[in-house]
Amino acid sequence: MTNTMLSIYCEICGEKIATADMHTLRHPLKGSQFLTPDSWHGYPPPFDPGATWEEMRCPYCRRRPFLSATAVMTGDGIYEVPRPEDKKEVTRESEAQDGEKGGQKESGADGKKEKITCSVCGKAFVSKGALLGHMRWQHRSSGSKTAGRGR
Ligand SMILES: [Zn+2]
Ligand SMILES: [Zn+2]
Repeated sequence: MTNTMLSIYCEICGEKIATADMHTLRHPLKGSQFLTPDSWHGYPPPFDPGATWEEMRCPYCRRRPFLSATAVMTGDGIYEVPRPEDKKEVTRESEAQDGEKGGQKESGADGKKEKITCSVCGKAFVSKGALLGHMRWQHRSSGSKTAGRGR
């Protein structure tokens, strides 16, 4: 069970085209991650070391050997290539906070109607007149307040 070498097969013609180490095989796929399919007989690696998934061609059928850029066919079936993005989930929390901040800023810079809010309680109003009415009713000026209370 210590063997981490995968036998890689062409998904089009089914030929064994390479071997790959589970530890180095990762997304995005690179030609250099695929090793000789038969080191005993001195077969060369199937792809150019710098080849991307797009450029990979099966040495036998000359088609792209992998239907998906995120999975390869091995002797044990489809092997999902680990994505480095998975690591991001750890730092997601702080990222989400940043995103929220940015979003708020954006909507503010959008130049939408200026919001009229009560400086006392923070309630929002559609017009200045409504705010004035609110101030009159909810936050009576200190003078009239005592007068009202007095009664
Ligand atoms: Zn093939
Ligand atoms: Zn208010």
